[in-house]
Amino acid sequence: MQSSAAPVADTPAPHASPAVEFRQVDKFFGPHQVISQVDFSVGRGEVVAICGPSGSGKSTLIRLINQLESVSGGEILINGRPTSALTGRALRELRTHIGFVFQQFNLYAHLSALDNVSLALVKVHGWTRAKAHAKAHTLLERVGLGGKASSFPAQLSGGQQQRVAIARALATDPSLILFDEPTSALDPEMIGEVLQVMQELAHSGITMVVVTHEMSFAREIADRVVFMDGGIILEQADPESFFTAPVHPRARRFLQKVL
Ligand code: ADP
Ligand code: MG
Repeated sequence: MQSSAAPVADTPAPHASPAVEFRQVDKFFGPHQVISQVDFSVGRGEVVAICGPSGSGKSTLIRLINQLESVSGGEILINGRPTSALTGRALRELRTHIGFVFQQFNLYAHLSALDNVSLALVKVHGWTRAKAHAKAHTLLERVGLGGKASSFPAQLSGGQQQRVAIARALATDPSLILFDEPTSALDPEMIGEVLQVMQELAHSGITMVVVTHEMSFAREIADRVVFMDGGIILEQADPESFFTAPVHPRARRFLQKVL
């Protein structure tokens, strides 16, 4: 049933619209414009890597997707449905279809890995603890942490904590998962284990938007690389073209620094 009252994100929209579509999006913080007239879309199942210098608006761009920030102008459509006017239940509904993985993990320190992963299923979806725990166990297995279900965040390494955070983001079966520099807070020896989980996810068909400085991830796993600077998308290309022949001078300068 397609009607204006249909849930935003779980009902297939007509004509297989993109998973995410920005139309002329602006974002201001006070007088300061941090996103300027951005048109951008992500296809279903696509893996997009976003890179660019610090302060270029990457975090703001992905926080706008799940309404952690609201647009100042323009519109963001998720699966073809406008989102800027959503409030209350409709907004919560949208968010359950979008997973978010933060740089600093943002796990609940007083909850075990198992409870971190199952919390939203119990609190938001009304699942019984037993059913939620069963699903959380499966997800912890999937990220290689089947033996750590009863550990608390402080008892886990950074890489393990981030894998718990990924399992948590998957708990509600999102169709889209957003990552904001998921490996930037990790010691170098832990980056690989998190990238490996992300690589497996990428192959599972879920749509992913990943802000990252890991150029190996962008190059080997992403379908498309987006380069931002000054709140503007300056260049978008397939990884091979972007890394071998970046067009914009600022993208070339950025790559000279990070590669
Ligand atoms: P990036 O993730 O690329 O480093 P951000 O999206 O975090 O960039 O920030 C883009 C710009 O917006 C920066 O100038 C930053 O200082 C500003 N900014 C981000 N969040 C806020 C906020 N909540 N209030 C005011 N300014 C912000
Ligand atoms: Mg950021």
